[in-house]
Amino acid sequence: MKRAGGDRRRRTAGPSTRRFIPFYRPFTDERDVREVAGSIRSGWLTTGPKVRALEERIAQRVGARHGVAVNSCTAALHLALAALGIGPGDEVVTSPYTFAATGEAILYLGARPVLADIDARTLNLDPEAAARAITRRTRALVPVHIAGLPCDLKALRALARRVPIVEDAAHAIGASIGRRPIGAISEMTCFSFYATKNLTTGEGGMVTLDDRRLADRLRRLSLHGLTRDAWKRYTRAGTWRYDVVELGFKYNMTDVAAAIGLAQLSRFDRMQRRRLRIAERYHRRLAGEEAFELPATVRGMTHAWHLYILRLAPEVLRIGRDELIEILRDRGVGTSVHFQPLHLHSYYRRTFGYRPGDFPVTERESARALSLPLYPGLSDGDVDRIADTLLEIARRHRR
Ligand SMILES: *Cc1c(COP(=O)(O)O)cnc(C)c1O
Repeated sequence: MKRAGGDRRRRTAGPSTRRFIPFYRPFTDERDVREVAGSIRSGWLTTGPKVRALEERIAQRVGARHGVAVNSCTAALHLALAALGIGPGDEVVTSPYTFAATGEAILYLGARPVLADIDARTLNLDPEAAARAITRRTRALVPVHIAGLPCDLKALRALARRVPIVEDAAHAIGASIGRRPIGAISEMTCFSFYATKNLTTGEGGMVTLDDRRLADRLRRLSLHGLTRDAWKRYTRAGTWRYDVVELGFKYNMTDVAAAIGLAQLSRFDRMQRRRLRIAERYHRRLAGEEAFELPATVRGMTHAWHLYILRLAPEVLRIGRDELIEILRDRGVGTSVHFQPLHLHSYYRRTFGYRPGDFPVTERESARALSLPLYPGLSDGDVDRIADTLLEIARRHRR
C-alpha cells in the first residue's frame, strides 16, 4: 500500500518519475563474454598470449614500438617512474587537478610530488607553472590529459628540455595531437583500462614507449623482477629456472582481463565516435546558457571525450555545484566530480602542509566542475533529457 501511494505521488511529480540515468554504465556485449570464455576454456588464465596480443595491438594503434600491460594505470605510472630510476630525494612535477593515483605513483618511490597549477581553460598542467616548479632535483614531469583533452606537450617539452615526460593518459586513449596519437609522443605514456575508462579490461593499464631497454625493464619489474619471459615458465617453450634480477612488483595483467580489452578494441573506433557525438550534442544543447561553461577543445587536438566536465558560472547561478548535484539526482540524473584537488586531501595536507589557496586555479575550477554522463550506451534521448533538466534548473536558479 505504502509503495503504491509513493508511486502515485512520484507520478505526479513530473520528470523525476522517469528512469534514473546513471553517471556511468559499462558498454559490454557478447563478444566480451565469448572472448573471456575462450580464455577460461584455453586453460590460460594469467599473463599469456592475449596479454601479448593486446600489447601489440595497443602499441600499434598509438604508434609506439612497445606496450607493456599491467594491472592498473597506477601500476603503469609507478613502474614508468621506477624504470627511470626515480627514488628518495627526487622530485616529480605534476598537477594537483588529478586523481589520487598520480600522486601515489610518485610517493611509492619515496620521491616528492611537486605540484604546479593548471590552465583554467583546459584544466591541464600550465606549462609556465610547470617550468617554474622544475628544480635541479626534478627527475620527471607527469602531465595529465584531463577528460581526454591532450596537454600542450610541445610547450612542456620546450620548457623542460632535459626532464623525461611520463604522461598520465588514463583519460586519453584515442586522443591525438595533430596526427600523433597520445602514446607515441613522450618517453612513456600510461593508459588506464579501469572499468569506467574509454577502453576497459575491468582493471588494467599499459605503458607505451619506443625504448626497447626501458620496455624490458618495465616488463621485468611488472613480474617480481624475474628474468625475461618468466611468464612462459609453465609452457613447453619455458624453463623452470629463473632469476630475480632486481626487486620487482606483482603488476602483470591477466589473459582474462586482456580478453575483454581485445573484444573492446574491435569496436573502439565506434565507441569513440559515439562519445564524440554525445559531447557535440551536449555542446549544441547547452551552448548559449551562460550559467554553464562548456568544456574546452583545442584546435589541432583530438579530444578522447572520456569526460564531459561542465563548469558552473557562480555569477549567474544562485546555487552551487554541490546543490546542483543534489537537484540533478532528484531529477534522475547521476553526475560526478573530477577532481577534488589532490593537495587538499587530508593525507596531503598532513604530509606536505598544503592549505587552501596553494593552487588557486585548481581550487576554483574544481569547486565549480561537474561531470555529466558520457558513455557509448547513452542515447540521444538521455542526452536531451539531461540537457533539458540542466537548462530548466539554470532558469529556475538564476540570480
Ligand atoms: C583512473 C585514473 C588513474 C588510475 O587508473 P587505474 O587504472 O584505476 O589505476 C590515474 N590517473 C587518472 C587521471 C585517472 O582518472
